[in-house]
Amino acid sequence: MRILVIEDEKKVASFIKRGLEEERYDVDVAADGQIGLNLAMANNYDAIVLDVMLPKKDGFAVVNTLRSAKIATPILMLTARGSTEDRVTGLDLGADDYLSKPFHFEELAARLRSILRRSSVEKSTKLHCGDLMLDAVSHTAFRWGKEIELTSREYSLLEYLMRNKGKIVSRSMITQHVWQYNFDPETNIIDVYIKRLRAKIEKPGSPKLLSSIRGVGYRLRESNDVASDDSDGEEE
Ligand code: CA
Repeated sequence: MRILVIEDEKKVASFIKRGLEEERYDVDVAADGQIGLNLAMANNYDAIVLDVMLPKKDGFAVVNTLRSAKIATPILMLTARGSTEDRVTGLDLGADDYLSKPFHFEELAARLRSILRRSSVEKSTKLHCGDLMLDAVSHTAFRWGKEIELTSREYSLLEYLMRNKGKIVSRSMITQHVWQYNFDPETNIIDVYIKRLRAKIEKPGSPKLLSSIRGVGYRLRESNDVASDDSDGEEE
């Protein structure tokens, strides 16, 4: 397990590094946001511990750039005590968890173990839902033995739905995970994408996979229902 610690306060950085090394992690330390970002882009870390207040590039810019570049390395952000706004910003940008300074090393280690566990589940590369298959390495989807042509946004949406197979995902969850920013909740952009995706992954006579749960969100699941021409997949 290789961890990148991006932290400019020397004392804090070496305290984290020492502790993690005692737990047998390999640790690299970057003292500013730019160096940290370069290291994170160039290496395949298992997780990143990322301070918010950093010289050159702050922690938010780092997490934002990594997620925009589709680098999914789990990130634990270190935020100032009591700054709810920082926590929300970090999570919205794609951080996996946060820890307020000052913290006990035991808590950092526990948070890290938890995001590493989550990411090993998420890393599985072949996802299935009935006869729909998605390959998260090549970013391709197949059904009826054929590749389904998807735009990158449609692909991200489908991957998110498949990773949450059987669960209802709300529109705001989709916004956060697929668009990674917040837009006007009144916009119908998600409905438009769901409709396009449904037209590609379902056809009359094949089992229906994607349902709309009125007023709540959407759910992808294996089902024995057969999609019909006029089905709009509405469930209550
Ligand atoms: Ca700092």
